[in-house]
Amino acid sequence: MNMMAMRCGGETIIIDAGMGFPEADTPGVDIIIPDFSFIEDYRDEISAIVLTHGHEDHIGAVPFLLKEINVPVYGTHFTLAILERKLQEHGLIDSTVLHSVEPRDRVTLDRFEVEWIHVSHSLTSCTAVAVTTPVGVVIHSGDFKIDETPVVGPPTDLERLSEYGDQGVLALLADSTNAERPGRTQSERAVIPALEKIFEEAEGRIVLSCFTSSVHRIQIVLDLAREYGRRVALLGRSMLRNVETADSLRQLDVPDGLFISASEARNTDDDQLLLLVAGCQGDPMSAMTKLATDQHKNLSVDEGDTVVLSARQIPGNEPSISRLISHCYKRGAQVIDSSLARVHVSGHGSQEDLKILIEATRPRFLVPIHGEHRQLYRHRDWASSSGVVDPENIVVFENGDVLELDESRAEITAKEVVGRTFIDASYEEVEDLVVRDRKHLSYDGIVVAIVAINPTSGELESEPEVVTRGFIHEEDSSEMLGELKRLIEGTVNGAAHEERIDYAVIKEKIRLALKRFIQKATGRRPMIIPVVVEV
Ligand SMILES: [Zn+2]
Repeated sequence: MNMMAMRCGGETIIIDAGMGFPEADTPGVDIIIPDFSFIEDYRDEISAIVLTHGHEDHIGAVPFLLKEINVPVYGTHFTLAILERKLQEHGLIDSTVLHSVEPRDRVTLDRFEVEWIHVSHSLTSCTAVAVTTPVGVVIHSGDFKIDETPVVGPPTDLERLSEYGDQGVLALLADSTNAERPGRTQSERAVIPALEKIFEEAEGRIVLSCFTSSVHRIQIVLDLAREYGRRVALLGRSMLRNVETADSLRQLDVPDGLFISASEARNTDDDQLLLLVAGCQGDPMSAMTKLATDQHKNLSVDEGDTVVLSARQIPGNEPSISRLISHCYKRGAQVIDSSLARVHVSGHGSQEDLKILIEATRPRFLVPIHGEHRQLYRHRDWASSSGVVDPENIVVFENGDVLELDESRAEITAKEVVGRTFIDASYEEVEDLVVRDRKHLSYDGIVVAIVAINPTSGELESEPEVVTRGFIHEEDSSEMLGELKRLIEGTVNGAAHEERIDYAVIKEKIRLALKRFIQKATGRRPMIIPVVVEV
């Protein structure tokens, strides 16, 4: 959920607005976006959304942000092509102004001048942005690594970054994702030998899953498929869409006749087939999991297949990836992931990459961004101990912090309210309270107590009813149900007449009585809903 606002003299620009995926603790939530309430005070002065690259964690929240503030969006052609599909889904394509830029393009706004500078990353057409302000130049690295030999596109534009360094850079905001890793991050090409060996040795089908945005990786795989005489079937909606977008914008070089459909793949010899599949994180609805569990309509993983997971495991996804691997083995396939061979390299720079960036830009202030808090602090510690920046000039700023900069000073001066907004599959917001209730229900179930009370006499008109779900097995628990009913009767009968005819009061008395009793008897805290029926 990377998102930052930059403000100067009454103008604000937003750099990136990304989304995140929920973990298991938010049932019914499909995506998470930043809480935008902090922009409320600056709404009228926001002049642009500036995008660094097309990854979901940098652009996924843009459609939701545009519903709040309709301002022009700037990014490279490819970044905007990825965004356009989202805008279409949200019905925003006609109302949004998109300005596509090339690296080294400069856009002059009121107080800011923004230049996009090409950087290497796992996706292509990625950029850092250099923002020239009246108090100095601020460089935001985007997500980057220093890859001298990327597969698609040029390497990181160190020349332009150094020119900024020559002129003087006030602050560098740098990607901390791999700040804990010593040395350099390897080139995208580093996976070629291991993948080549797989193509060399595989006698059956090759089933390869990677992130559908890993354009360099996909190009390598397509090149190997051509070289080893394998046709390629793309499986999974996001794989088809992303490859199509990348191909149409010449981010990929696809040989004619390489692709075949899933149904053609059924009739292709195993040793002449490569399945390139979405779902490397083991998402249960993904094409890869469907293949591995025989749920796909055309194809499945089978005896003799070589399954390659060419991606990192995003923290939190390990259990589903592990299940995916087990399913593949059970079906008789071989599985190769990055624990067995170098089939994945990171798209984020390690310490020596960061050092190259810092030495090129020579910032007065270094501000670690992107990554968990731990990584921001490790970035700071590494940078101070390695002497690349004066330790006093390294500022860690966390989510919500307001960093104030002038020619000679960088200080955290305030904190804005930031947080998460939950979104469901129909792109509607799900309130925190709703998610909390769902969690509560999923842990301890629900108990509904139904009583019929005469509104005049306040007497019970019939025996109370108790309905439960996810709490006890009712047929086996008649004793417990009987006790709950007697407790409700006792609570109503023991209440004063005024309490009994005030339904809000009697409902709360029933709820508390049940809650105390159930907690004592079972140690559990189901959701309790008393219902009073007026007779
Ligand atoms: Zn990225």
